[in-house]
Amino acid sequence: MHDRIDQAIRNAARNGEGVALAFVDLDGFKLVNDGLGHKAGDELLKVVSERMGACLRRNDTLARFGGDEFVILLPDQGQGQDPKALAPLLEKIRVAVTEPVQVAGQAVQVSCSMGVVMYPRDGLDASALLMNADAAMYRAKDLGSNNFQFYAREMNASVEEKLVLLDGLRQAVQATVDGAGENSFYLLYQPKVDLKSGRIFGVEALLRWRHPEHGVVPPQRFIGLAEESGLIVPIGDWVVRTACRQAQAWREAGLGPITVSVNVSARQFEEARLADRVAAALVDSSLPPALLELEVTESLIMRDLQKSVATMRELKAMGVSLSIDDFGTGYSSLSALKSFPISRLKIDKSFVSDLADNPDDQAIAMAVISLGHKLNLKVIAEGVETEQQCRFLRENECDEMQGYLFSKPVTAKEIAKLVELYVAQPGCCAGLAMAPEEQVVVRAIAA
Ligand code: C2E
Ligand code: MG
Ligand code: MG
Repeated sequence: MHDRIDQAIRNAARNGEGVALAFVDLDGFKLVNDGLGHKAGDELLKVVSERMGACLRRNDTLARFGGDEFVILLPDQGQGQDPKALAPLLEKIRVAVTEPVQVAGQAVQVSCSMGVVMYPRDGLDASALLMNADAAMYRAKDLGSNNFQFYAREMNASVEEKLVLLDGLRQAVQATVDGAGENSFYLLYQPKVDLKSGRIFGVEALLRWRHPEHGVVPPQRFIGLAEESGLIVPIGDWVVRTACRQAQAWREAGLGPITVSVNVSARQFEEARLADRVAAALVDSSLPPALLELEVTESLIMRDLQKSVATMRELKAMGVSLSIDDFGTGYSSLSALKSFPISRLKIDKSFVSDLADNPDDQAIAMAVISLGHKLNLKVIAEGVETEQQCRFLRENECDEMQGYLFSKPVTAKEIAKLVELYVAQPGCCAGLAMAPEEQVVVRAIAA
């Protein structure tokens, strides 16, 4: 295994490519081994490894690392490829492992937790990659096992560092609720554009943390910790309230109806009072419920399908709309999808980035668009950065787009400017000079 990893890294370095590596640990193996004996345990390991092997290509490597731990090496990954593109494969492996196994005359079932890294992004040699994949695997275990996690730098933060970060988060929650302070949260908004008219019909609210020492911290660096600690609940509550108030302020300023979308994390979604909190935010801001959309992910819904659908129905009954974020990277059974009270699918940016010249991504995007339309849903593409991607999406009847091509996430004030400009000159937002917070390029999207 070490030799293969080294070889894959050398090849990748020479060809400017990437290598993916997954650290797999079985959940519940000890129970079988202790309960039914080592022979049964051995049998289970054989069946499970055969199943994992069957999910892989010929060039991939599956190795037993020890005990109930395995390593999967996936060479020949594209340069700078988003690891999320591996999600369908990882999901296939996860499902294959959870199928029941007959051992010692008994049907037993295990699952697996996986941590995933990419060379060169997450480490330059085998030991760094293995160490980081292991840290990501522990994160998967922490999140309840039977899932996979992509490595992020914070996962290796020491307990001490985590405590410091957590303390900072706590203070930021307090300061934000009290209003201002050096250490606080704020929202940026990224326009969502209708591909036919070029009109900004909505925005996605994206959370930022202004840290007194680290500057602006992006959500990927703290959402995980906020989830782990439960702080995501008060933070998420603040996001919904602030986004609703902002959307209402745009309305009152005469900008016309602008839908605001808010990302909801699993922990928030599982809170019994989510619908109540959202209802309160709507009442307090006077925003019509139809102008609020919540973005949820497939994996969030599939954690507890029945309960999720019930919560979604409750929200829908209030008039709030729902969309599925990062569609295509999670795993939702298509028959379940039919029963989701949603109004929009969001094609994940990992399928959009190579849209111009990757036939697989083109096929996936076209399939999602047609699936969405057959289910009477709007389809939006996220992460649109180039004219070619935009053209492909429009030609294939994607309804809407969001991405740097039109605008990066910007402040509420800048959104107002953009919308006013559109009203004055429909479809002509080109070349607008924007405030320097995030360097912004704004282009005309209208056909
Ligand atoms: P997401 O919901 O999928 O949001 C889209 C992300 O893609 C945003 O990153 C956005 O800035 C980025 N993006 C937009 N257009 C482009 C593009 O053309 N190219 C590229 N490369 N990226 C683009 P951001 O703001 O860093 O947010 C990352 C993730 O953090 C979000 O992914 C969402 O899952 C989470 N997040 C953000 N705000 C919140 C929040 O208030 N609550 C929760 N629970 N999660 C949040
Ligand atoms: Mg989102
Ligand atoms: Mg997304």
